[in-house]
Parts: sequence; structure tokens; C-alpha cells
Amino acid sequence: MTRPVRLAINGASGRMGKAILDLLETDARFELAHAVVAPGSKQDGEPVFAHSSKGMRYAHDWNDAPALDVVIDFSSPMALHAALDHCTSRGVALVSGTTGIDAVLEVRMAEAGKNIALLRAANFSIGVAVLTRLLREAAAALPNWDIEIVEAHHGRKQDAPSGTALALGHAAAQSRRATLDAMAVYSREGQTGARVDGSIGFAVVRGGDIVGEHTAMLIGQGERLELAHRATDRSIFARGALQAAQWLVGRAAGQWQLEDVIATS
Ligand code: NAD
Repeated sequence: MTRPVRLAINGASGRMGKAILDLLETDARFELAHAVVAPGSKQDGEPVFAHSSKGMRYAHDWNDAPALDVVIDFSSPMALHAALDHCTSRGVALVSGTTGIDAVLEVRMAEAGKNIALLRAANFSIGVAVLTRLLREAAAALPNWDIEIVEAHHGRKQDAPSGTALALGHAAAQSRRATLDAMAVYSREGQTGARVDGSIGFAVVRGGDIVGEHTAMLIGQGERLELAHRATDRSIFARGALQAAQWLVGRAAGQWQLEDVIATS
């Protein structure tokens, strides 16, 4: 594509939306065409780039969205429903990082993937993609060791455990030919009884400005292996999402993964 990619951001005033807007100020690959925020939010109707003559303003819906190549979504499950409506009705590609998705939205996403190019990742960092690969290997190589996943995020995060922690749990369970649904233990309190063999436990820390930390522990008798990733700057997720968006434009309909982008970039 010779012209810039026409991009919309869903959740443009959020922490991730702002990180993407910061990068867009100096990224000629993209032309920001629409920026959606929650209805009633203080940014609604305000200029997106205060120092630019372009005059783009935040919107609270998709009604006035111009023709688009791709939408990047870091918002909420409810806002993602609206973005999906727009993308599926106009044939626009969608990159989504929103977590906390329920079963109804999962089904909608799977349906949408039949008609549009859709790429989802619970974590757009390359380091976490490698951590996932290492965990798969370790879980298979140490089949009898206990697995616990600990994650930490800032205090305003809405869902727990994080989408990334769940994705790590899925990867570990798959390596042991099990499902996370069958093996997960999400909370422990009171008389829990002994740990169930093969279970995958989760623990959650919330506080301050933690961008995102994940540790997968593989715990044996007399030794322990820990695989940890710490994000200190959310621009890593923003950069990954922009790379994914550029890659996705012009792809066939389907549910794509960040691994597909890394493999062919
Ligand atoms: P945030 O709360 O800072 O921002 C949310 C944004 O969504 C805001 O712009 C808000 O106005 C908008 N929004 C909320 N409800 C809306 C609605 N009903 N209609 C329209 N817009 C609405 O959140 P954040 O930290 O930027 O994270 C957003 C999402 O992305 C969360 O689900 C988070 O877990 C996820 N996340 C994913 C990754 C990743 O790499 N995949 C990284 C960080 C965050």
C-alpha cells in the first residue's frame, strides 16, 4: 500500500490509546481517521492532537467514521461490541487487545473472523510471545512439577487474572494435553485442602502504576524454575499493535495471531 494506512482507535483516551497516539505523531505509515472514547468522557468532542492543524476530534461512536483500513481496539468489552458492529458491516480489519471478554463476545469474535481479518492478543509484547513459547517447553519437559502463575498490574485494571496470565495458563495446559478449564484454580481461601496434582494456580497483585508483570513458576521437589516478564513501558504494547495493524491490512478474513506477524515480519 503506497498511501498511509487509514486507522481508527477504539479507546483513544485510555492508557493504551494515548500510548498509540504518542507513536502516531511521528509515524508516517498511518493516518489517524477516527478516535472513539466512552460516551460522556471529558475528551468527547475535544481535539485529538492539540498542536495540529488537522482538526480531528474525539468521537463517542462510529456514526461519522470515514472509510477505514483498520481499527485498533484497547477499550472495554462493551466498546468492543460497537467496534465489531462497525468493522463487520464495513469490512474493516480489526486488531484488538481488550481483555476480560465473556463467552458471548468470544462467539461474536469467532463469527466476525469469518468475514473480516481479525487479530487478537492478550499481550502485544514480543517478550511475552517468547515467554509463552518457553513455558510450553518447560511445562512439557517437567510434567510432574506444579505450575503457578503470578501476575501484577496497576490498581485500575478491571479484570483478573489478566488476559496474559490466562493465555499463559492455556499454553501450559495445552503442553500437558489438558484444558485450562479443567486445571485452573483461580482463588484459595480458608480450608482449601491439599493442592490438586496437575492443577494450575493463579495469584493476582494490584497496585500503583505497575504496567504488567507475569511470572510462571514451575515448582518441583527441592528446586523451582521461574520464567518472568516485566513490562516497564506500555509503548511496547502500542508498538506491537501498530505493527500488527500494518500487517493485517489486506489479509484474508480469519482469526490471526501475533505469532503470525512475528513469523512473517
Ligand atoms: P483505560 O481504562 O485507560 O482506557 C479505556 C478506553 O476505552 C478509554 O478511552 C475509554 O473512554 C474507552 N471506553 C470505555 N468504555 C467505552 C464505551 N462503552 N464506549 C466507547 N469507549 C469506551 O484502559 P487501558 O489500560 O488503555 O486498557 C484497555 C484494555 O486493553 C483493557 O481491556 C486492558 O486489559 C487491555 N490491555 C491490553 C494490552 C495488550 O497488550 N493486549 C495491554 C494493555 C492493556
